[in-house]
Amino acid sequence: MAAVDSVKLFADRFQGTALTPGEVGYDDARSLWNGDIDRHPLVIAQCVTDEHVVEALAFGVEQGIDISVRGGGHNFAGHGVTEGGVMIDLSDMHDVTVDTAARRVRCGGGTTWADLDAATQEHGLAVTGGVISHTGVAGLSLGGGIGWLTRKAGLSCDNLLSARVATVDGRVVNASADENNDLFWALRGGGGNFGVVTEFEFALHDVGPLVQLGLFFWGTEQGPDAFRFMRDYIAGLPDDTGVQIVGLNAPPLPFVPEQYHFAPGYILAVVGWGSPEEHAAVVQPIRDTLPPLFEMVTPIPYTDLQKMLDDAAPWGILAYEKALYLDDLTDDAIAVLSDHFPRKSSPMSIMPIFAMGGAYANPGEDDTAFGGSREAKWIVNISAIAPEAAVLDAERTWVRTFWDALRPEASGSGTYVNFLNDADEDRLRASYGAAKYDRLAQIKSKYDPDNRLHLNANINPAR
Ligand SMILES: Cc1cc2nc3c(=O)[nH]c(=O)nc-3n(C[C@H](O)[C@H](O)[C@H](O)COP(=O)(O)OP(=O)(O)OC[C@H]3O[C@@H](n4cnc5c(N)ncnc54)[C@H](O)[C@@H]3O)c2cc1C
Repeated sequence: MAAVDSVKLFADRFQGTALTPGEVGYDDARSLWNGDIDRHPLVIAQCVTDEHVVEALAFGVEQGIDISVRGGGHNFAGHGVTEGGVMIDLSDMHDVTVDTAARRVRCGGGTTWADLDAATQEHGLAVTGGVISHTGVAGLSLGGGIGWLTRKAGLSCDNLLSARVATVDGRVVNASADENNDLFWALRGGGGNFGVVTEFEFALHDVGPLVQLGLFFWGTEQGPDAFRFMRDYIAGLPDDTGVQIVGLNAPPLPFVPEQYHFAPGYILAVVGWGSPEEHAAVVQPIRDTLPPLFEMVTPIPYTDLQKMLDDAAPWGILAYEKALYLDDLTDDAIAVLSDHFPRKSSPMSIMPIFAMGGAYANPGEDDTAFGGSREAKWIVNISAIAPEAAVLDAERTWVRTFWDALRPEASGSGTYVNFLNDADEDRLRASYGAAKYDRLAQIKSKYDPDNRLHLNANINPAR
């Protein structure tokens, strides 16, 4: 652990804002989205420039203490904050610059999707982001990045054009197809292992500003029928349709009939990028085949779509998750989903099921470092979300039991690394596959040979 004097010396000379225990703002700055995480860094280095990041990294390296990097602070395991090390806080690095002619956007390493979407949507442009707007662009994109646009535009990381990276040896380097190509490959799925990204550059796509949303709800008692219907219906959708199934308790919103407020069930969300008429034709078979208990079909600004689920996952809530890939929603998988989802005890716990395919499947398996097969059809996420610790404890058991029961249906033993609450080397190896993991380990040994950046879905440097 660094001597108190060293911390004071660093805090005094640091050009950004340094916060130490007891100072105003320290507790706010160390808090993450997951309120179950309670760690106390020796010092929080709030950065605004690349130089600040280099200084903070150098302090952590010199002192031999843990270094955590906080982008949006959403990581379930709380990798953004360290107990007794230096926390590099990027949340003030959120400038967004849109180049409409080149259809590109640059953003700082601490930008949230809310910031990025607001800036790009002024020009009717967007890049694939997550489905909760206060998630960080950084962690989400470095691990992959799945959202409403995945089937239309690929993963967030598939759209990365370049990045500026502060490395643990004190340099700031660019990574792109033309410069440090090994690093560029690793940043597209390999997480925060290789350095601190101070700026991202993404390709943009025409989106909205208005898009077409359809929400359709069935109760848990209709589970097997609803899942079989959704599986077959989604298989016939246009490739670029945004689609997600979410197990949840119906919110008490105006479009939900009062008798279904808080009722547990399954929402099918279908997002179209074209006209209301095209979307109406796409969703009509839902009513014709398995009429939902209630529905809402409406045009919606893309920025509102990106915030639609924010209230389901508020900042500071307690959470735990597990996830897996499925090649198919087999009848056996459906039996497990319909049996286990209703056993949750926290009304806030949710089960988002992302339908992959479309543009997600376009890149070759080795084009990026993404940890998952491009042939995977579904990612099932089982998330315990609870307002207090005792409820979270019970829900952890629910998540683990549910996940164990679903595992025989999974495609392999890997998972999407951004949904890996309990990452260990075996699960990461399984997620990337041995060859990709080994390639990442080689690149790690070049950029971070002593594994100074290990508070992440950690790749062990090759020896
Ligand atoms: C409510 C909620 C909703 C989510 N929805 C989605 C979704 O729709 N789609 C999806 O794909 N994922 C989703 N996720 C998962 C999300 O992708 C991960 O939690 C991701 O790690 C969040 O990134 P962050 O920057 O907010 O997190 P942080 O906790 O700040 O960071 C996550 C990891 O990235 C590293 N890191 C952060 N910033 C940088 C940087 N600038 N340079 C280098 N390393 C960095 C951190 O050290 C840490 O290891 C969701 C998570 C939550 C909690």
